[in-house]
Amino acid sequence: MPTPFVSVLNAMPTQLADALAPFLTEQFDGALSGAQLSHIADKSQLSLQQVYLALLPIAAKLANPPISHFHVGALVIGGSGNLYMGANLELPNQALNHSVHAEQSAISHAWIKGETEIKDIIVNASPCGHCRQFINELHLGKNINIHLPEQDTAPLSYYLPYAFGPSDLGVTTPLLHKHSVALTYASDDKLVQTALEQASISYAPYSACHAAVVLEMKSGEYVIGRYAENAAFNPSLLPMQMALSHINLRRLDYQDIQRAVLVESSAGQISLADMSQSSLASVSNVKLESLIASA
Ligand SMILES: [Zn+2]
Repeated sequence: MPTPFVSVLNAMPTQLADALAPFLTEQFDGALSGAQLSHIADKSQLSLQQVYLALLPIAAKLANPPISHFHVGALVIGGSGNLYMGANLELPNQALNHSVHAEQSAISHAWIKGETEIKDIIVNASPCGHCRQFINELHLGKNINIHLPEQDTAPLSYYLPYAFGPSDLGVTTPLLHKHSVALTYASDDKLVQTALEQASISYAPYSACHAAVVLEMKSGEYVIGRYAENAAFNPSLLPMQMALSHINLRRLDYQDIQRAVLVESSAGQISLADMSQSSLASVSNVKLESLIASA
């Protein structure tokens, strides 16, 4: 079992720890299927809701907050019933707006794994205003239930009354809604083609800067980040931030990044290149390959 989880399991009731342990292998990537969750609930004789809350300290172990030292863990339950963990990320020597919040991390985790709907968000600290606004960008976001330890469950509309969201700017296909734009870039480089495919399904209704980052690790595996814009602009999640957050969720090492590609659409009114390079430079010496795809 990965070392960070040992102390969490040691603090749990034995029945629950025994039910969870088989899933927390070295390959554990922060996701559990609905069937696995039901199995854990049955074996530990807890409700699913109790299992979710018990998993928060596991998610918080995936946080990387060298500035605040405040570890936030979040869980998202997708329409499929599967669970996706998220955790906060702060980048050393960078402005604070390079940070990723745990809720953003968990939502992007579900998105990258193909979920098109989110039903519940469970978090170990009350969602900040930035996260409430980020959740509001999701399809039927105001109905998503927020669960906190020792607090009654309430929908986002309770936490974010009088919300400003995508519909106020005329956007009818919110975040997680399946859509794609046509982008082309002549290259037979697999990493570039993967970034191109991911950019085409990114979410950039406000700037048209459809973009994605793919990080190639020394093991050969790819870590993906897609751009996710927000109606209030500042809570937008940049693709490099998303990818770096997912490196932490998978307990990989920044030092094992061997290539990094950013693809942006030529139709974009903005560029993410400078900020993406700065973010990467704070954790790796790899130079970002920054490409513009034809829209
Ligand atoms: Zn937040």
